[in-house]
Amino acid sequence: MVVYYRCRQCLKEMGKVSSAKATQYNLGFDALTEEEQAEMISADQDGHVHVELLCEHCHQMTANNPDLHAQTNWYH
Ligand SMILES: [Zn+2]
Repeated sequence: MVVYYRCRQCLKEMGKVSSAKATQYNLGFDALTEEEQAEMISADQDGHVHVELLCEHCHQMTANNPDLHAQTNWYH
């Protein structure tokens, strides 16, 4: 199983973690609500997991521009 991380706004690849032991629980996802998990985490048909986060750049952008924060779905 491979866990892919991607920025949800600019879609930049942020890395991946390959581990047979990787589960959402030892990756810290259990700190999220179920709703947040459903929003951020999806599994593809091969069983790999895709996690959508904010990269540093986009995080900075939203921090500097609170108005943009409401627009979390630019690419949808
Ligand atoms: Zn980004």
